[in-house]
Amino acid sequence: MIIQKTKEEIELMRESALVVSKTLGMLAKEVKPGVTTLHLDKLAEEFIREQGAIPGFLGLYDFPNTLCMSPNSQVVHGIPNNTPLVEGDIISIDCGAILNGYYGDHAYTFPVGEIAAETQQLLDVTKESLYVGIREFKVGNRVGDVGYAIQQFTEKHGYGVVRELVGHGIGKTMHEDPEMPNYGRRGRGKKFVEGMVVAIEPMTNMGTQKIRHHKDGWTITTLDGKPSAHFEHDVAIVDGKPELLSTFQYIYDALGIESDEENEFRTKIIN
Ligand code: MG
Ligand code: MG
Repeated sequence: MIIQKTKEEIELMRESALVVSKTLGMLAKEVKPGVTTLHLDKLAEEFIREQGAIPGFLGLYDFPNTLCMSPNSQVVHGIPNNTPLVEGDIISIDCGAILNGYYGDHAYTFPVGEIAAETQQLLDVTKESLYVGIREFKVGNRVGDVGYAIQQFTEKHGYGVVRELVGHGIGKTMHEDPEMPNYGRRGRGKKFVEGMVVAIEPMTNMGTQKIRHHKDGWTITTLDGKPSAHFEHDVAIVDGKPELLSTFQYIYDALGIESDEENEFRTKIIN
């Protein structure tokens, strides 16, 4: 069942999303060679609690930490550990927080120092596919329209779209209806309605789309060992159109990156 939110509830959800956005912005400066994902996890937990929020992943389905930290060939759900990041790695950081009873959940894949050009391209294409998908999240469209758009864009670049893991509705619980796959067929699946809030989150593999589940019950890696990237935004339908609740701007401000992608996205939606 899709749970529609009022405009007031969507504003509360924006605050939850922004706790996560600010946490990712704080972490952006800390991601560097030599740092461990467990250290970053502790920083994130403290930061979230300082903002009066609660880590959204900690204890959820018995997950042991605040962040899902998935380096290199790990797709998602990686558990923070004491292995230092090294120059040339990529690290997907997925973060959740609860504020005022609502969840925020979004993710960014960071380069660690200098990375290979082909890896940077994987990050760029995956992030762009996120916006390509979000543009289709509007009244009148269906779940398959978002998945189709992401899949077409991603496969055009020769990358693999992970099938087993999907985006989701979000609200007072982390995972609500509907599931939001990153592949699909136009005009298929549940219809989008006013007040829906979803997390759209392409998981894109440089090589094969196939993945492997590890014995710890969490870690998922690409079958061929090639890198995988993951970007996620929380998005609401307001007045029929998609509205970003989360933002990567705190990350860009922290890193001194000039990016107009979110404004550009909004401009395209209005026109
Ligand atoms: Mg997430
Ligand atoms: Mg999610």
